[in-house]
Amino acid sequence: MAQSTPLILRLVASSVTAATRAGKIIRDIMSEGNLGIVEKLANAPVGLSSTAKDGEIEFRISGKNDLQTEADRSAQRCILASLSQQFPEVTIIGEEGPSFCEVPSDWVVTDSDPEVLKMACPAYLQNIDDKDVVIWVDPLDGTSEYTQAGLLEHVTVLIGVAVGDRAVGGVIHQPYYNYKRQREGGEVEEMGRTLWGIVGGGVGGFVPTSAPEGCRILTTTRSHSTPVVQAALDALQPDEVIRVGGAGHKVMMLIEGKAHAYVFASKGCKKWDTCAPEAVLIATGGRLTDLHGDSYKYHKDIPHPNTGGVLATGRGQDHDWYLAKLPDAVRQALV
Ligand code: AMP
Ligand code: MG
Ligand code: MG
Repeated sequence: MAQSTPLILRLVASSVTAATRAGKIIRDIMSEGNLGIVEKLANAPVGLSSTAKDGEIEFRISGKNDLQTEADRSAQRCILASLSQQFPEVTIIGEEGPSFCEVPSDWVVTDSDPEVLKMACPAYLQNIDDKDVVIWVDPLDGTSEYTQAGLLEHVTVLIGVAVGDRAVGGVIHQPYYNYKRQREGGEVEEMGRTLWGIVGGGVGGFVPTSAPEGCRILTTTRSHSTPVVQAALDALQPDEVIRVGGAGHKVMMLIEGKAHAYVFASKGCKKWDTCAPEAVLIATGGRLTDLHGDSYKYHKDIPHPNTGGVLATGRGQDHDWYLAKLPDAVRQALV
């Protein structure tokens, strides 16, 4: 890869291959059936039992709902090792904390996606300095769904590229895209897919699609609901609410026209959940803010929690209409 290729293109192109490699690690660990689940805050093994269901393993977990598995840990080590080798001056922040241990050599991938490298670089990103770049990594978004049978399509690998305060590049890899069709013997070329976008530059790996007119479909959490989360949804008078796992998966619903807005009135999401999805969404003409209408910032010193909640709308949606409809009580719960 020529060093004259603009840094943003090299970052996103390398993130596409790293996310894809991490996705294979995630599938391999599931196939081996030993997820090594711990509850994150306590960092202790959780009470666990498992059964096979429809050819998948379902893990029943007693305890809290902020889990980490061997797949989260290994996928992060793969991504950090791959990107830090190529971009030593860039700050990389991963959900699972810093990890300096050795990784198997075949986890380190340094090739680049050729489609991304072919893109025209937007003028405002042409001369960025690697010291202003932060890469936000969620190695496995949707861990709760990863441990439950039938929900593997909710799992994504997220790599977001921020320059200064702004999310400008994003990669969303969906390792189990098409897995049900493949299991049923359907023709599937390759397991998984990778979607990416550069704000002002373009997108790849999917066809941006607007949601249908004449109805309002909202998407939200399936595993972290609260009365405030529900109050926000009710105020928006939806025709349908689709409850799926993962911030990455929910933003995919927006960019592929399956929902109009992603509404999450909770402080639970973090910067690594929203950086990549936000960049891809903006690249398609959508918007992501907190529930006060403020944009999140992604520089390296920013606190990780997205304490103002998440409102993301697909292209063509009036973001301000959603903001105006939210009750004060919901907004006040998110300060
Ligand atoms: P969800 O929409 O519930 O699948 O959450 C999207 C992302 O935010 C996932 O990475 C979750 O782990 C994270 N998240 C949301 N709510 C919480 C919470 N209450 N505690 C910990 N993580 C959360
Ligand atoms: Mg996540
Ligand atoms: Mg995660």
